[in-house]
Amino acid sequence: MSKKPVPSKKQAVSSTRSRHGAYVRKVRTKLANASSLDTCPKCKSTKKRHFACQECGTYNDRQVFEPKSKKSAAPIQEIEA
Ligand SMILES: [Zn+2]
Repeated sequence: MSKKPVPSKKQAVSSTRSRHGAYVRKVRTKLANASSLDTCPKCKSTKKRHFACQECGTYNDRQVFEPKSKKSAAPIQEIEA
């Protein structure tokens, strides 16, 4: 016979699901609080850390791309008008 620990009682489904739910809630709050946001030094808007700014398109004082907001805003106004 194998010498492994045998649970004395069967684990209830509700307690298993309760523990799982508590774990999921803990992980979700951890992920929500761990968002690494930073302020853009050029336009002072909120941006993701280590990513180019979506508002002005700069990273490390360098123009990486033209911001989409200015390009996409113009055609939408023409369609509405
Ligand atoms: Zn910016």
